[in-house]
Amino acid sequence: MATVQGVLGPIDTADLGFTLMHEHVLVMNWSMRQALPGWLERDELVAHAVGEAKAAKERGVQTLVDLTPVNLGRDVEILREVAEKSGIQIIAATGFYWTEEPWYQGWDVDHLVEFLLPEITTNVQGTASQVGIIKAATDEPGVTELNRKLLQVAARLHRATGVPISTHTHVHSGTGRRQQEVFAAEGVDLTRVVIGHCGDTEDIAHLEEILEDGSTIGMDRFGLDFLLPMEQRVSTIAELCKRGWAEQIVLSHDAACHIDWFPKEAIAEAAPRWTFRHIPDDVLPALRDAGVTEEHIQTMIVGNPRRIFEHQGAY
Ligand SMILES: [Zn+2]
Repeated sequence: MATVQGVLGPIDTADLGFTLMHEHVLVMNWSMRQALPGWLERDELVAHAVGEAKAAKERGVQTLVDLTPVNLGRDVEILREVAEKSGIQIIAATGFYWTEEPWYQGWDVDHLVEFLLPEITTNVQGTASQVGIIKAATDEPGVTELNRKLLQVAARLHRATGVPISTHTHVHSGTGRRQQEVFAAEGVDLTRVVIGHCGDTEDIAHLEEILEDGSTIGMDRFGLDFLLPMEQRVSTIAELCKRGWAEQIVLSHDAACHIDWFPKEAIAEAAPRWTFRHIPDDVLPALRDAGVTEEHIQTMIVGNPRRIFEHQGAY
């Protein structure tokens, strides 16, 4: 039996079911949260997240992969509480975000690996939980000297443990390709890597370059229609399925039950469907209308997540 570490313990990969591969319960600056009373209304957030997770569960979603990295306010205690109260399975992540912070500078790759490794092998944040995936991120500035270091941290954690890598990219700058280059140079098997935020483009030729190197692509920002409307996201996936790539595509929203980057009202206005419900409610029917077969849909929402988490251990 292959297992993946969920926040409430190991999950048989056969029980992952319909899995949203890139979501967030909470994205928040820890310093602001710690310093300013009221920056996070914890009980309110937990109640809201439990409601959203239950709504997703009622629609068939069995597992959420929470890809919040360490320095975007990842809080495993909150993830455990939401998993317990909603009954949904949650997998947490380790790894760092791309925004450059002063403390990145003085540490070499292997020291940073030493800090994060126990989150995979022992426990995380003083809880009984372990993380099940490694997050890496590269945005518009590309693979800077510091970013290369962070990508190498992810690669070495992966090689030491076999736990898959999933990334944030800026697809219009081609940073997914650059990530693949760094990972390949570190000896990573690219079939164990999800290159994220690929759904923000309709550039099939670019996506096929990423796919040809073996990685899975995350079509994972459904609901952010102001970046690219759902219809175009759907037709890109339909075309890729027609070309035979269904086995390397996963679906998600990159939605957050709470994110402190903008006021709640602004998010609700700019992206009203940006919740864990949009894919079951709107996207899957649209994919069917666009001619994507039921078999390909099941591959993208169940089969591929299972394959990504079934690994042979370290190498
Ligand atoms: Zn994200």
